[in-house]
Amino acid sequence: MQRFPMHVDGGDRLPASGEWFETEDPYQGSAWAEVARGGGSDVDAAVTAAHQALTRGPWSTLTHTARGLVLNRVADGIAANIDRLAELEVRDNGKLLAEMRGQVAYLPEWFRYYGGLSDKIEGTVIPMDKPGYFTFTRREPLGVVAIITPWNSPLMLLAWKLAPALAAGCTVVIKPSEFTSASTIELVRVMEAAGLPAGVVNVVTGFGAEVGAPLIEHPLVRKVGFTGSDTTGRHIGAQAARNLKRFTLELGGKSPNIVFGDADLDAAVNGVVSGIFAATGQSCIAGSRLLVQSSVHDEVVERVVAMSRTARMGNPMDAETQVGPVTTRPQYQKVLDYIGVAQAEGATLALGGRPADRPECGNGWFVEPTIFTGVDNGMRIAQEEVFGPVLAVIPFDDEDDAVRIANDSLYGLGAGVWTSDIGRAFRMSERIQAGTVWVNTYRAVSFMAPFGGVKDSGIGRENGISAVDEYLETKTVWMNTGAPAGSPFVMR
Ligand code: NAD
Repeated sequence: MQRFPMHVDGGDRLPASGEWFETEDPYQGSAWAEVARGGGSDVDAAVTAAHQALTRGPWSTLTHTARGLVLNRVADGIAANIDRLAELEVRDNGKLLAEMRGQVAYLPEWFRYYGGLSDKIEGTVIPMDKPGYFTFTRREPLGVVAIITPWNSPLMLLAWKLAPALAAGCTVVIKPSEFTSASTIELVRVMEAAGLPAGVVNVVTGFGAEVGAPLIEHPLVRKVGFTGSDTTGRHIGAQAARNLKRFTLELGGKSPNIVFGDADLDAAVNGVVSGIFAATGQSCIAGSRLLVQSSVHDEVVERVVAMSRTARMGNPMDAETQVGPVTTRPQYQKVLDYIGVAQAEGATLALGGRPADRPECGNGWFVEPTIFTGVDNGMRIAQEEVFGPVLAVIPFDDEDDAVRIANDSLYGLGAGVWTSDIGRAFRMSERIQAGTVWVNTYRAVSFMAPFGGVKDSGIGRENGISAVDEYLETKTVWMNTGAPAGSPFVMR
């Protein structure tokens, strides 16, 4: 069994508690490694290291251009370690190796993009209304940033925060999900081997209450970047606000994938199936509500069911596998519970609805791709995030009806619109309440394209040029170039 110590100030750190916890392989259904159980004193050591790297150097003493070059070298380092990092992701989260390799191979772009941005962060000269002053702004790093990540795409969701934070000049302490710690520790080792100075990025592993909470509370932490569930996000936001710290929250979704009768149905069916069953539905942007126009309802359902039925399940390391296991034991139970809820609510089971007992699934936590028809948008299966391979199909009549149902959700992360009418595509993209709308495609993301949620799906945006602002503070400097002295007792 492998052991993963924490990573603090450029080296391994054993847990102050002396305790370790097991991390499980969802395909084998058994433990494969041990991870350090961090606590308050480990958090303090990591934040202190990050703060020293920020205040004494080496990070703060680099020029912006040199910082950008380090990020480019980090990108090269990741590119040279794609297979190793991707395999660690799969060991812990059971997602397909093909998908994780694709995600890891894409990560260097985040470090190149934000590395390039690093020396383009500029203050401005203020065209002053008062005579005798030269006034300008400086954009300064916020300070030490805490990054708290979930288990579904650990490295990608980390890079969305880490690359802009480093480009801004911040230093970082990461708390990965307790279910998927290994790849994050290895990533930071790879970054340091590529030239990232010690202490700039630190990792403290463990549980939310034992590591996450003291990290947010720590007086030297200035911002929290979080991706995870809305329940935890509310808690973290409240805790950060109490301590007057900035935060960004990327939370859950119940995204509608909307198919109109005029759509290219081949493309739509493909997009609907991959929108929910890729990543075994464990994606914040899963298209978990299929809204389909009544005129094509039966045909679309029939084709989606037929395509989903052919999904090959099994070992996620195998290139032939199309649907892997559910990542964690509690999540596996949650998905099965929601299937029970949907049936009790009166939804019609059109496919799946049970654990997969195929020989190729071994002892893993597999759930058959599951489709419910006859769903009313008021049902829990249409309102609550399952985060698993479960699709709820809801018919609609016309555009207004589609918009009403799509927006009748506490969430607003993503939405898909499938239509061949260009006017309708624009109208729908305007009327849908979501952070991202995909037209005749689904699930595309890029380091260049802002990403985030509205309503209960989150606060703030990641990716794109403006994401770096989330890690910067503005300082205003007034230089007296000859302003009249005036009375000492009157404020100017
Ligand atoms: P989670 O909220 O249970 O945990 C996320 C992280 O928060 C973990 O590292 C966990 O240890 C930590 N945490 C838990 N309690 C904490 C506390 N009190 N203080 C500080 N940290 C604490 O989420 P999860 O189950 O790991 O991930 C699944 C969720 O993430 C889903 O709801 C999904 O939609 C969401 N998600 C959102 C996005 C997005 O970009 N919007 C992307 C992926 C996943």
